[in-house]
Amino acid sequence: MKQNKKMPLYVKILIGMFLGGFWGLLALKLGLGEFTLDWIKPWGTVFLNLLKLIAVPLIFVSIVNGITSLTDVSKLSRIGFKTIGLYLFTTVLATFLGLFLVNQIEPGKTFPTEKGKELLEQFKGSVENSSKNAQTVKESSPLQVIVDIVPENIVSAASDNSKMLQIIFFAAFFAIAMVLLPLGSTETVKSFFNEFSNIILRMIDMIMEAAPFGVFALMSGLVVDFSGDSELFTALGFYGITVILGLWGMIFFVYPVLLWIFTSTNVLKFYKNILPAQLVAFSTSSSAATLPVTMEQCREKIGISNEICSFVLPLGVTINMDGTSAYQAIAAVFIAQVFDIELSVTAQLTIVLTAVLSSIGSPGVPGGSIVMLIIVLSSVGIPVEGLALILGIDRPLDMLRTVVNVTGDAVVATIIDRNEKSKTDL
Ligand code: ASP
Repeated sequence: MKQNKKMPLYVKILIGMFLGGFWGLLALKLGLGEFTLDWIKPWGTVFLNLLKLIAVPLIFVSIVNGITSLTDVSKLSRIGFKTIGLYLFTTVLATFLGLFLVNQIEPGKTFPTEKGKELLEQFKGSVENSSKNAQTVKESSPLQVIVDIVPENIVSAASDNSKMLQIIFFAAFFAIAMVLLPLGSTETVKSFFNEFSNIILRMIDMIMEAAPFGVFALMSGLVVDFSGDSELFTALGFYGITVILGLWGMIFFVYPVLLWIFTSTNVLKFYKNILPAQLVAFSTSSSAATLPVTMEQCREKIGISNEICSFVLPLGVTINMDGTSAYQAIAAVFIAQVFDIELSVTAQLTIVLTAVLSSIGSPGVPGGSIVMLIIVLSSVGIPVEGLALILGIDRPLDMLRTVVNVTGDAVVATIIDRNEKSKTDL
C-alpha cells in the first residue's frame, strides 16, 4: 500500500482510534451521545460498507490470479505439489493453533453475557439473517457445507456477502479451466485479471486512506453505545494477547519444529538470516512489499536455490498466510464470544475451512485480510458488524501476522530446497 504522506497510515489509524475513544467519552460527559450516534457513527458504517463492497471482486480476482499464475511454472509440477501441500499444511496448523488458543483463553467471554446480548440487539438486522443461517447450519446434513459451496446461480451468489465461499468456488473453477486451456489461448483474460487486480488494490488503498476517519467514527460510536464500557476494552486487550500468543506460537514453536524435523538447518541461524525480512514485514505490514527482501535473504543467506526461491516465495506471498489464518480464526471466535453466539463443532470446522481459504485469497498488503474476514464471519452466521470491535487494534496485530506470513514462506522454501538437494545428492 502506498504511503506518500509523511505520517504512516497506521499511525493515523491509531490516532483516529484514540481520538474516537476520547471523543466518545467526552460526548458522554457533554451529553452529545445522540449527536455522535446520529452524525458521526454513520461514517463508520460507510467505511465498513466500503470494505464489504470490495470483498466480492477482491476475492474473485485474487483467486483467479493466484491459480492461473501456476501455469507459468508447469515444469515445476512436482515442486508445485510439494509447495502447495506444505503451504496448506502450515496454514491449517496455524488455524488450529489459533482456534485452540481462542477457545482456551476465551477473550470474548470477559465481556458480560447480558452486554453481549445488548450489543447483538443493536445489530439486529444482520443478526436475524445470521442466526437464521446458523440455525440452518445446525439442522442440516453434515454434507450441507459442501452443498452450500456450489452455487446454483453466480449472480445471486455475488449479491450476498454471506455466500463468499460460492464465489471462491466459482473463481477457482474458472481459474482451473483457464489453466487447462492451451497456453496462449487465455492471455487476454489473464492480463485483464491482472489489471483488474491492480484497480481493486488501488481501491482498497483509497478505502484505507479513509480508515483513520472510519475508525474514529466506529470507536466513538462504540464508546457511546457502551457508555465508556471498560469491559469491552478489557476483552479487546485479551483478544490482542491471544492473537500475539498464536503468532508467537508459530514463530517460536511450530516453525522451529518443522525445520528440525524436515531439514538439518540450524534454527538460530535461520532466524538470524531471515530477520531483515521480518523487520521489513513488521514495518510495512505487507508481505508483498517484503518479497524482494525475503528472496534476497533466502537466496544469499539461507542458500536456497534460485529456482526454488523464484517459484516458492512469490507463490507464498499470494497463497501462504499462516499468521493471517491464525488471526482470522481467533478474531471470528472472539467476535462470536462477545456476541454470546455458541459455535458448534461444525461451525468451528467451517471457520478452519474458511480461514484457510480466505487467507489464501488475502492480498499481501496492510489490512489485506480484514475484508476477507467477512467471509469467515458470514460463513458461520457471526454478524459482520463485529469487525468494528477489532478494527481499532488491528494494525499492530497486522504487523505481527505479516512477520509470521513471511517467515512461513521462508520455512517452506527452506524445507523444499533441502529436500530437493538431498535428492540430487543421492
Ligand atoms: N498484511 C498481511 C500481509 O501482507 C495480510 C493481512 O493479514 O492483512 O501478509
